[in-house]
Amino acid sequence: MAGAITIALSLEGQLRLDDQPAFHVAAALARQHGGHLIVLACRPPTQRLRGRYQRQLEAQALASLQSRLTAAGIPLLQFPQLSTEAALSAHRDLLRPEAVLSCGESRLFDDWPIRPAAFPRVFADFRRGLNQAPLPPLAAAELSGLGAGLQDWPRAWLQPPTACPLPMFQGGDRRSAFPFRGDEPSALARLQHYVFDSDGLRHYKASRNGLVGTEFSAKFSPFLAIGSLSVRRIWDAVLRYQALHGADEGSTWMQQELLWREFFLWSEQHHGAAFHAPGGIQARPPEWHEDRQLFARWTRADSGHPLIDAQLRELLATGYLSNRGRQWVASHFVQELRLPWIWGARFFEWALIDAQPALNTGNWAYLAGVGSDPRSFGGSPRRFDLERQEQRYDPLQTHRQRWS
Ligand SMILES: Cc1cc2nc3c(=O)[nH]c(=O)nc-3n(C[C@H](O)[C@H](O)[C@H](O)COP(=O)(O)OP(=O)(O)OC[C@H]3O[C@@H](n4cnc5c(N)ncnc54)[C@H](O)[C@@H]3O)c2cc1C
Repeated sequence: MAGAITIALSLEGQLRLDDQPAFHVAAALARQHGGHLIVLACRPPTQRLRGRYQRQLEAQALASLQSRLTAAGIPLLQFPQLSTEAALSAHRDLLRPEAVLSCGESRLFDDWPIRPAAFPRVFADFRRGLNQAPLPPLAAAELSGLGAGLQDWPRAWLQPPTACPLPMFQGGDRRSAFPFRGDEPSALARLQHYVFDSDGLRHYKASRNGLVGTEFSAKFSPFLAIGSLSVRRIWDAVLRYQALHGADEGSTWMQQELLWREFFLWSEQHHGAAFHAPGGIQARPPEWHEDRQLFARWTRADSGHPLIDAQLRELLATGYLSNRGRQWVASHFVQELRLPWIWGARFFEWALIDAQPALNTGNWAYLAGVGSDPRSFGGSPRRFDLERQEQRYDPLQTHRQRWS
């Protein structure tokens, strides 16, 4: 690539243009030095399973990004099997940017929101101890004039990703609670709909334990998991809603849930390997039976409990499961089947459309009694009475019938 300098911007699994600080830095650098941008979509940095549902969303988000970047003459180069470092090293004959910038996972805070030395084990202390307010989002960077065209790059690198070819994806399961596409415009449309155009946010506190449909909860998690939506954009929308309608129960509860997400992300960073270890942050000795046949049946939605099997069927058919359903499944797995929670967590990471290792492990460990549930410190984890839970949250057995 002769002429002006090239600045490479690696997405690192953050598949959007909105609220991307690295895009602003790259655009400023390119303008300052008369350079141009290339964008790299490499294998995301963290070790994660990324099952078929999540990969389908990623393919949709990448295709959308590609057409928007192409319109600005900026190539989106795809190296799905390689890390950024490996891609740059493997293709150094053609790919020799003068600078490489990386996008970071969307979080509410740039830096520790609580002193790492005093990082708490429980959410309530995290929330009370926050030493800063969430940061506002940045608008999408102005990219016009920063592309040098697509003609110099191998066609294979510019191939738009294909969505997962399995037949079950061709229209999706009509019963899915997440029937949305994964691209950024779809993510922003869902945010607008849930916060402003429907009563979703207003009723969130009352509806969030629902089990069926698109509206009982926000359905932001799959977009957050692939980075097609910024958590700061969500927080900002909630603040704008509160400026219009006041800080009602629904909107303050949503803020609390977004802080739970933050708590697990920073907890994982704080505890390192212990966070994902079988004994968790409590370093408790395992109390489980490694029954592989029982586990194999469970993965086929044959757990022996009809309520749990209905949840697992939904998970297998759509990749989505309500928060209440996830709690039931995980608690039953640990308490009744007495299987190793790390097996369940790994399976969820593969199956969930919104799989995010810190959030997944954080919640599993909590329910397994090795994580941040204060009731489990020195005692036993909480136990769900599934019959009573169903009477309370699904008295007409709507979910069970839908997934029978
Ligand atoms: C066993 C288990 C495994 C889980 N695995 C994941 C996972 O891999 N990825 C994931 O995003 N969430 C996970 N969760 C948390 C939660 O179930 C989902 O975030 C939520 O159901 C997603 O749907 P929603 O966006 O409609 O949620 P809403 O209820 O509308 O919540 C809005 C947002 O708040 C955050 N949030 C809500 N509940 C939680 C929670 N318990 N912990 C952390 N953040 C939360 C999420 O970012 C969510 O998108 C898990 C929960 C359990 C019990």
